[in-house]
Amino acid sequence: DDARSVTMCGHLVSPPPVGYLCVPIVAWGNTLGILHFYSRILPLSAEKELLIGVMTEHVALALFNLQLQEKLRWQADRDSLTGLFNRRHMDKVLSQELNRSVKQSSPLCLAMLDLDHFKEFNDTHGHPAGDALLQQIGTLLQERIQGRDIVCRYGGEEFLVIMPDMPWSESARRVRQLQREIKQLRVLHEGRSLGAVSVSIGIAIFPEHGMNAQELVLAADQALYRAKAEGRDRIIVAVGKEEDAPHHEPLPSSEPGK
Ligand code: GH3
Ligand code: MG
Ligand code: MG
Repeated sequence: DDARSVTMCGHLVSPPPVGYLCVPIVAWGNTLGILHFYSRILPLSAEKELLIGVMTEHVALALFNLQLQEKLRWQADRDSLTGLFNRRHMDKVLSQELNRSVKQSSPLCLAMLDLDHFKEFNDTHGHPAGDALLQQIGTLLQERIQGRDIVCRYGGEEFLVIMPDMPWSESARRVRQLQREIKQLRVLHEGRSLGAVSVSIGIAIFPEHGMNAQELVLAADQALYRAKAEGRDRIIVAVGKEEDAPHHEPLPSSEPGK
């Protein structure tokens, strides 16, 4: 009731001119904040104090529910190891992006990346080291994507990068850059530097290689399969659906596929 006569609440820098009440907002044992009330009419009646207490309980539950909703939404869209979007979310955004590409008649590039011999990597360095590498690759991909690009963890050691609205030469340059950077990545795990990993990449482009998400993912997957079959550590672009489908310029490199 008299702000000057009692120990001041920690969040105040100077005593307020009127009486105040600070009520912790606590829900299920989690302190979410405080509600801070001023009152010119002092002392505060017991009824008012009770009312404030009840109101704070309601605020606490409402805030807790909102936080929970947000957390669940985040978890539903993300992969817990890498923090990247998961396949479920990717399905949703890929369809949205394709709708936009159709409307704007703009291209969309889909790159499916799969680490080479990752089982062997796990066998050599242990599963936790494999996890650390996946996390680092997730971080690298997340850092490298630009603009409207989307990256997701498609499966175990597979990642999908969606690059909407970009000339082929630019998406090819970026994919090549990612391939190089993954190979150069050196991960420290428990004080040890882990060996390098290479990645095989299959690329499919809208509209040449598919008109919808399903066709594009399948085309990228088949290209990836070829990249594996032809020796790994390479990028392969899907072939057109039709015999006479327009073919893209080869990847801008001196040595095709490498
Ligand atoms: P390829 O070059 O043909 O792709 O060979 P690969 O060994 O990478 O492929 P394979 O499909 O035989 O094995 C995939 C491995 O990825 C096996 C599995 O243990 C590992 N893996 C999948 N998810 C995880 C994960 O979350 N953490 C770790 N550490 N390993 C994983
Ligand atoms: Mg795989
Ligand atoms: Mg693999």
